[in-house]
Amino acid sequence: MRFLVLSDVHANLEALDAVLAVEHSWSQALVLGDLVGYGADPNAVVNRVRQLPIAAIVRGNHDKVATGLAPVDTFNPVARQAILWTARALTADNRAWLAALPQGPMPFDTDIEVCHGAPFDEDFYVFDELDAQRAGASASRPLCLLGHTHVQGIFRLGQYVSAERTSARVPYPFHYATISRALVNCGAVGQPRDGDPRAAYGVLDTDAKVLTLGRVAYDVESAQAKILAADLPVSLAQRLAIGR
Ligand code: ZN
Repeated sequence: MRFLVLSDVHANLEALDAVLAVEHSWSQALVLGDLVGYGADPNAVVNRVRQLPIAAIVRGNHDKVATGLAPVDTFNPVARQAILWTARALTADNRAWLAALPQGPMPFDTDIEVCHGAPFDEDFYVFDELDAQRAGASASRPLCLLGHTHVQGIFRLGQYVSAERTSARVPYPFHYATISRALVNCGAVGQPRDGDPRAAYGVLDTDAKVLTLGRVAYDVESAQAKILAADLPVSLAQRLAIGR
């Protein structure tokens, strides 16, 4: 069976729709949190995701703050301004749905679990090999899918940790049948920060045991125009064009 892996959509409807348009071969989605925050389409994105057949979903830190489950004071001024705007924009129904999203980690099958940040802490950032070692030690499955950093890549864990960035080599097939342990970030759909502005995602084939990391260009200018029209911080529009 094939699954679409989505993380960090961040209210970017253009990016989400580009991913949904380019990949059709999946039957259910794995959603790794941060559906809202930063972008100008929180309700449209939540509505779209609610219509997908979902195999597993966990919440992200922006979902928590937008719905009042976590305090806003952990956010920097730009993120704070955006999440306060988001909290006001969300419909009561979408806010309740977001607030009810489960906390990771979530076991998916015998090979895989999903989380937003790391298995031991949903808000932990796995940026480098040391972070990956710490996160990997808390994983309950050989393959852990995570998001949160908005950087697409693979950490293979053995005696040492090796990290690889994948964005320049997509579509990048990662064969996980024989791994001992790995953490994979399929990247951010709606706000990539690895220097590649294309929307990032993954397609998981549980029969072949291959996770393919992908990127797709989307209509950045429309997403930027909506951010500016909503009076959200200008930097949130600018960063989409450079993927930072
Ligand atoms: Zn995020």
